[in-house]
Amino acid sequence: MFLFAFYACGVWYLALRFRRQWPAFVIVPAAAAVTALLVPVLMAANIADVGLYLMLSAEAAVILLVGLFIAILPRAPQHPHCAYCRYDLRGLVGETGRAVSDGPQQCPECGMPIDGFASVRRQRAKVFASATDVQPLNGRDVAAEVRSMSAGASGAPAPGKV
Ligand SMILES: [Zn+2]
Repeated sequence: MFLFAFYACGVWYLALRFRRQWPAFVIVPAAAAVTALLVPVLMAANIADVGLYLMLSAEAAVILLVGLFIAILPRAPQHPHCAYCRYDLRGLVGETGRAVSDGPQQCPECGMPIDGFASVRRQRAKVFASATDVQPLNGRDVAAEVRSMSAGASGAPAPGKV
């Protein structure tokens, strides 16, 4: 019984890995065909009951339909693009897809940082670390420091207000 699920998940993983490429459109129908062909083979050998035949047929149909759906899912663009909205950033960023110092730091379409999720996480971690820093205050206005850090964050929503 678990074998059915593992088999299906393996096929779907390959479909995802090779989506929109020819191997996905070979692997998925082949895997479904193998499952479907087990039915006449088992029937000829007369070693299984009707329930198993039905289950194998259903397995083949589900593998085929879900597998083909996964195989047509879009791939990430090969050119530099915004990690949030996939806006085409060609001509706005360097060869590596990273923001260049004299170029825009934010996506012109959605306003999120061009460097992607990592720069937002770094910024949030920095603000969180300083906001939760357990040190004697010594008269420091921690709230004001956090506010100024948040104001410096390029386009990222201020933590604590999320
Ligand atoms: Zn964007």
